[in-house]
Parts: sequence; C-alpha cells; structure tokens
Amino acid sequence: MLREIGLTPIWRLRERTPGTHAASTVPESAEVADPSAVASPAPPASPVTGHPSPGDGDRRIAIMRMDWPLLKDAVAQCRDCPLHARRRKTVFGVGDENADWMFVGEGPGADEDAQGDPFVGQAGKLLDSMLAAIDLKRGENVYIANVVKCRPPGNRNPEPDEAQKCEPYLQRQIELIRPKLIVALGRVAALNLLARDASIASLRGRVLDYKGTPLVVTYHPAYLLRSLTEKSKAWEDLCFAVETMQRLQAAALAPN
Ligand code: URA
Repeated sequence: MLREIGLTPIWRLRERTPGTHAASTVPESAEVADPSAVASPAPPASPVTGHPSPGDGDRRIAIMRMDWPLLKDAVAQCRDCPLHARRRKTVFGVGDENADWMFVGEGPGADEDAQGDPFVGQAGKLLDSMLAAIDLKRGENVYIANVVKCRPPGNRNPEPDEAQKCEPYLQRQIELIRPKLIVALGRVAALNLLARDASIASLRGRVLDYKGTPLVVTYHPAYLLRSLTEKSKAWEDLCFAVETMQRLQAAALAPN
C-alpha cells in the first residue's frame, strides 16, 4: 500500500512529546491547540470567496434547513452558477453520512463529471491508497465531497463566485454529517473552508477550525501525482490527522 503511494521505505510515526509537533505552530486565529476545544466562531467575512448577491441570504437559510433528500435534490437541480451549463452530472459527495472523517477536494474532473461521484479518476485512486494507508476505506466512516459540485471546464480552479454559490451545500453536508475531523485536500479546499488565502505549506501540521469542526490540511492527490517529493509530506499529514483524531476520540471519552 505504501509502495503504491510512493512512500516506501516504510515511514512510521515517531512518538512525540504531548503538545508538540514537528510542523510549525505559529498561533493564528483559526488554529486550535486543543482540537477537542473547538469553539463555533461567527463565520469570518471571506477574502477569497465571491460576493453575496441579493437573495443569497434567503437561499442560504433554505439550504441550511434541508435534510439529505432535499439537499441532494437541490444540488442535482442547481443552476445557480455558470458551471451548471457544461456539466454532465452533478457530483454531490459520497460515503458514510455519519462518518467521523470527511475529506474535501476541489471539484469534479472529467471522470467525476461522467460518473457523478467524487475522486473516481487517477487522483481518486491515489486518495483511496492514502485512505488505506491509515486504515480507512471510502464509504466506511469516511465521507468525500468537493468545494464545487459541478466540473469547472478544463479542470481550472473554481472561480470565487462559483465556490461561493456552492458553499452552503458543503456547509450543510458538514452540518448533517458532523464529522469529528475534516481533511482539506489542497489549497482550493483549504482556502474555501478557512476563508483565507495561505499556502498549504503554512497550514500543514496544525489543527485549524471550520465553524467549530477541527480541520487539517494536506496536499491534493492530483498534485501528489505530479510531485513525488511531496508524498512524504502528505504521509506526515496523514499521520498528523490520525493523531488528531485519536486525541479527539480520547477527549470525547474523558469524563468532564
Ligand atoms: N479532484 C477533486 O478535487 N475532486 C474530485 O472529485 C476529483 C478530482
């Protein structure tokens, strides 16, 4: 498995002194020292997503009241941004709707657009191997979704206004799933979830916060396919995600 994702010889997580981490821990507003103590701050004004247009407030409120069937239907029917015009299928998301783990990518590519499921192409194969490397499996305690539900033409990044229109759908998915931990795959996912622009390098190795849910960041699998040297960093990130999940689970079991 590790060979498959280019991570041999075998890398093992070293024991760490509690409270320390090899990666940068410069305090920032979205960083959380104790992942179990994530608060629910008011959403910040987004410097990276698009500007709300009239009616967006009502639309958001309606989406925030949806249950799974309504939400799935709303995404399937959505024509609220230009991406709908060229899509073949919407790509809602897939997996265990009660998952502890949620992985969020950028947006569908050609394979996903054809099949209607996230991460089914080459990047998806690598994501499946990354999941397997930490004993996870698509659909089993794992949910996978994207920032945008329709394919951006030519696999370009979603425009801010496109991401902004889709954001309530992702927010509602996260609210319904209530994952213990979100893993943002790549810069586009990170900047849209965190509503701030920063490099992946500066965000790795920290427990950040998405509206009260702990969030960690790693490289996008498509980037890892092009950049073999970063795979070892992705492995570090996965180990950090596992450690974070273990701390969250331990905190949930601890008596008050
Ligand atoms: N890349 C993504 O970000 N999401 C997918 O679903 C597929 C490729």
